[in-house]
Amino acid sequence: MSPRPIQQVVTAHQQKEGAGFLVRRPVPTNGLDQVDPFLMLDEVGPVEYAPGKAIGAPDHPHRGFETVSYILSGQKLHEDSTGKSQLISAGDVQWMTAGAGIVHSELPGPAFKAAGGLAHGFQIWVNLPAAQKFAKPGYQYLPASDIPTAQSPDGLITVKVVAGEAFGVAAAIGTHTPIWLQDWRVSPGAEAEIATDPGFNVAAYVFDGAVCFGADKVPVARGQMAVFGRGETLMVRGGDDAGRFLLLAGEPLNEPVSRYGPFVMNTHDELIAAVEDYQSGKMGTIRR
Ligand code: FE
Repeated sequence: MSPRPIQQVVTAHQQKEGAGFLVRRPVPTNGLDQVDPFLMLDEVGPVEYAPGKAIGAPDHPHRGFETVSYILSGQKLHEDSTGKSQLISAGDVQWMTAGAGIVHSELPGPAFKAAGGLAHGFQIWVNLPAAQKFAKPGYQYLPASDIPTAQSPDGLITVKVVAGEAFGVAAAIGTHTPIWLQDWRVSPGAEAEIATDPGFNVAAYVFDGAVCFGADKVPVARGQMAVFGRGETLMVRGGDDAGRFLLLAGEPLNEPVSRYGPFVMNTHDELIAAVEDYQSGKMGTIRR
């Protein structure tokens, strides 16, 4: 069993999204286009909003992939063109399949907007294979209480298993292709070596403190993402302080990626068709 080495460490750049909220984005960034099948990872906030001031992303379309929202603090109201709406609160996950096309809005929940407070969370874009890019649009919603928690044998690592499995605990969510998406809390002194499918691409984005990875125990700090090379296992070690990271792992699609804003297809012509279909109303509208 050979541990995966760190192949690359990127530092998230910052940019504005939606109505102007700041995100940290380790992928895509300069030098890293994707971690196939993960197209994008945004850390939203942490940002403290005054009462009435919280902002989000009003009505916009997607096609060809999935968007995953994982909220750490605050509350989001999702509404979409299939007619559904969903409040997503701290600890909850919404795994949305844009597939053939959806229009949605991602705004602060009304109670959170009125009161203000700390907003912090993630949005992850997961690609769909060509054969499933026109899947039926919809979403899976998992309240925090339905997300299984796993613990390392030494008791020093706690994992929220959103997708995949950790320390023998399997996720409750279904994915189109084999994917792991997990929130790891690592205490000082923790040690774990976990088996990862040798065919998977694996990356870890540290969003609190620092965590050490690989046989060489390379420290990766808050705001950095480690992309791992080939191997059979992932070695995780606690640093001097506690750390927290998002583990992204999955079977690569190995297909051409053509992106334009909220659309991710395989060819340029498919992107043009997506823009035309959206502009002619074929992805629907949100009825309010
Ligand atoms: Fe969106």
